[in-house]
Amino acid sequence: MSRLASPVYAAYRERTKASAENYDQARQFMPGGTSRQAAFWLPYPLTIKRGAGAYLHDVDGNRYLDLLNNYTALVHGHAYPPIIEAVREQIGRGTCWAAANEPQIKLAAAIVDRVSSIEQVRFTNSGTEAAALAFTIARIVTGREKLLMARYGYHGSLHEFEIGSFGNAGHLTFLARYNDLADFEAVLETHGEEIAAVFLEPVLGAGGIVCGDEQFLEGVKVAAHKAGALFVLDEVLTLRFGVGGCQGDMGLEPDLTMLGKIIGGGFPVGAVGGNRDLLTLFGPDDMKVFHSGTFNADPVTMVAGEVSLRELTAGRIEQMNRLRQMLQSGLNDIARKNSLPLAINHYGSCLNIFLSESIPDSPIDRADEELMDRFHVACLNHGLFIAPRGMVALSTVITEEDIAAALESADAAMRDVAAESG
Ligand code: PMP
Repeated sequence: MSRLASPVYAAYRERTKASAENYDQARQFMPGGTSRQAAFWLPYPLTIKRGAGAYLHDVDGNRYLDLLNNYTALVHGHAYPPIIEAVREQIGRGTCWAAANEPQIKLAAAIVDRVSSIEQVRFTNSGTEAAALAFTIARIVTGREKLLMARYGYHGSLHEFEIGSFGNAGHLTFLARYNDLADFEAVLETHGEEIAAVFLEPVLGAGGIVCGDEQFLEGVKVAAHKAGALFVLDEVLTLRFGVGGCQGDMGLEPDLTMLGKIIGGGFPVGAVGGNRDLLTLFGPDDMKVFHSGTFNADPVTMVAGEVSLRELTAGRIEQMNRLRQMLQSGLNDIARKNSLPLAINHYGSCLNIFLSESIPDSPIDRADEELMDRFHVACLNHGLFIAPRGMVALSTVITEEDIAAALESADAAMRDVAAESG
């Protein structure tokens, strides 16, 4: 059934008229009406007025249980009181200046304390910039120009990385299959002398929540070192999975770690961490890497990030994992009941839904795209906010009751979708 004829899309248009008007206006001034592809969907994205705890409220007055939490960044949900309090105090004292501040020391120390491979960090304003910075460090250290990453891995929107996330190699970008050590070794054997660094996520995030095999990750590190390349672990998304990130849980020690999302407590952020020897490159004495940025380590982000990390305890991570499990098994039950195919990838507090019998190579290359789009919009119609591609990331403020309500909404959404597919 076409989108125009679909009752699911008709219901969406009916309940979100103010969002539709905003979309028409936004398109006049921004191509596609947006600056963020991952926050766009057809027929138009919701305009959100405010977020509070586990909920989002749109400009039409509809409420949504947020099961995405800004693609994992809001690990404590919206307007988390301890973060708001710290930020309120800070903004009253000013938001940025071209000199040092104290909150950056506290956040850097908290990161060093938690993540075993990190002795020092440099802050950026996004994970994308963290990738660019890590790539720069690797190029300077090795005198080489290229990178190797996983096909469908995601390291932000710098062209050299972004093409890889769509499955394409480029003149600076080599690709190998995730969880296929032999493939990585083969590329490193053939092209090792050109490769400055290998970038890997311990769990593919945008690639569909695919857990990296520990032997694979360690094996790629060994192969990278053998080829004289750095091993960069991208924990922008995965830091939320363990107090010391995935590397803590997996016993992995990368040369450099990329961070972002939760270390900003809801504000724009990124960071690169590593051992002291490597990071002396930035030192004023050695200054091999000139790294600057108007808003790097601004004190507002730093206080928010420090609270965000401090409040993410092992107990709360465990609780989120338990609720993700409850959600996942409930989704499997209701898919069966509604005779819809369903396959789910998961790790920790995240999962990715596919409305197919099996899991495709990547969420960007999936046979269920049309069905998934429709299910996403149907979920919104029933007050459930997930990623258009089916990703879910829980927060510490989501309760068991919220998950029970989410399953009722998902059940209703599946019923609507099944009625249109039948
Ligand atoms: N790396 C990973 C693993 C990510 O998930 C993301 C963001 N989704 C990035 C890098 C880029 O971060 P940002 O969106 O802050 O540029």
